[in-house]
Amino acid sequence: MKPIQMVDLASQYHRFKPEIDNAISDVLNSASYINGPAVKQFSKNLEAYLDVKHVIPCANGTDALQIALMALDLPEGSEVITPGFSYIALAEVCCLLKLKPVYVDVDKNTFNIDVNQIEALITKNTKVIAPVHLYGQCADMESIMKIAQKYSLFVIEDNAQSIGADYVFSDGKVMKSGTIGDIGTTSFFPSKNLGCYGDGGAIYTNNDALGEKLKMIANHGQRVKYIHDVVGVNSRLDSVQAAVLNVKLNHLDTFNAERQEVAKAYDLAFANHKNLKPPFKSSNSSHVYHQYTLQTCAVDIPKFREAMQEKGIPTMIYYPLPLYKQNAYQQDIQLPIAEMLSNSVVSLPIGTDMEEEQIKYIINTILNYFN
Ligand SMILES: *Cc1c(COP(=O)(O)O)cnc(C)c1O
Repeated sequence: MKPIQMVDLASQYHRFKPEIDNAISDVLNSASYINGPAVKQFSKNLEAYLDVKHVIPCANGTDALQIALMALDLPEGSEVITPGFSYIALAEVCCLLKLKPVYVDVDKNTFNIDVNQIEALITKNTKVIAPVHLYGQCADMESIMKIAQKYSLFVIEDNAQSIGADYVFSDGKVMKSGTIGDIGTTSFFPSKNLGCYGDGGAIYTNNDALGEKLKMIANHGQRVKYIHDVVGVNSRLDSVQAAVLNVKLNHLDTFNAERQEVAKAYDLAFANHKNLKPPFKSSNSSHVYHQYTLQTCAVDIPKFREAMQEKGIPTMIYYPLPLYKQNAYQQDIQLPIAEMLSNSVVSLPIGTDMEEEQIKYIINTILNYFN
């Protein structure tokens, strides 16, 4: 059995090595290292995959969020409604841009933003709702879009964990996660469902004016070289990473299906377990399992994780501290579900290229621990 890792990146590389090495080698030979043909091709490929009009590649998923917020031209102090149980990126860029993150609690089943609590938080300063599609499953976008329309708010979807997931509206219409709001953002950090071999990110929109603006901001605020119309940043996806992504995008649906297979085995094993609750499946979204996260009940988590580590099974906690309890971003609020989850969730190894034997070993070791 291969050693178990939280996510095994090397096995996937070896599976596609000839194709990926060729693509990288083509870029090295072309000497178009920045904004080369591979980058333009990747924009087109991702636009086609997501069925979205504009994809603007950038340097990472955090930049993608920053550029998205910059493109909206919000007055200082504008409020951005976002889940309090999430990754730090959105809180961080809000603070850098002098915007105020307003944290909402999450749904006790999906762990995504609780749409029933959004309206009560809207003030005259609210400008944006920014859901995060956590762990690989879409937030309730239909409700979010209704609220946004009612109060004329922008919607930015942080899609870093859910690229490739399908959202299904009540009328049966299906859209790719990240393409429903005004702007979607994603990350190609190596461990993401579509990961490159360094840093990378992208921003997408169906709005032509926003598309133009996002492109300018990501490129020093210039449309024409050395003519700067707005304040921008320098945030580029390099050609080598784009070449890797062009190869891997062709296999994204396969990668997600492989993650779903692992999740299915875990689901089956832990269904009806007295201490472990498998991830909830939302009826209006597919799940691409960026993480496989169990909610535990009456489990000493540090002790459990240590016991697993001793047996060669890494585990992680995404995320151990709600955003408003972080020293840098403290707010005097309490979100009961966020706090309960930060003390009770644990994520298991998942990814492409896991062996049957590894999955069985993880399942048996966990089941034995509770026996
Ligand atoms: C990974 C991630 C990001 C940030 O991506 P980077 O490329 O690391 O900057 C933002 N939001 C979420 C939810 C993420 O999981």
